Amino acid sequence: MIITDKDYLINHKCVGIKSIKEEKTNRSLKSAMFFGWKRLCPKCGQGELMSSYLKVRLGCSSCSQDFHYQRADDGPAYITVLIIGHLLVPLILFFYEFFRLSPLIMAISLSTFAVLLALYLLPRIKGALIGLQWAKQMHGF
Ligand SMILES: [Zn+2]
Repeated sequence: MIITDKDYLINHKCVGIKSIKEEKTNRSLKSAMFFGWKRLCPKCGQGELMSSYLKVRLGCSSCSQDFHYQRADDGPAYITVLIIGHLLVPLILFFYEFFRLSPLIMAISLSTFAVLLALYLLPRIKGALIGLQWAKQMHGF
């Protein structure tokens, strides 16, 4: 089901389409992505964005911004793998050149590092991506 601006106005009892369009033009990309990184609402920065590790809430508890418009899909996973891959390759070369660690120790330690970093980055990157979508008014935000 596609929700239009008119449906949004009826559901949220807004005064007119002009006010909602004026609000949309003044969205800060930097603060929206920063709030998203902190897993907070990109609009107000107070309500929580996620209900669990990666599950996005239906709406903000503080400002009633709807989050069901978000379409993060595979983007956060792709960006996370991109970042971790670019960090791991120099780390492997560094540890191999300067410490000559055994391959088993390197595999265990760097794999653990990669998994922990992925677990840390994934929800934050997803939040930042939702903040980007909100700030750029993508997918009906
Ligand atoms: Zn909010």
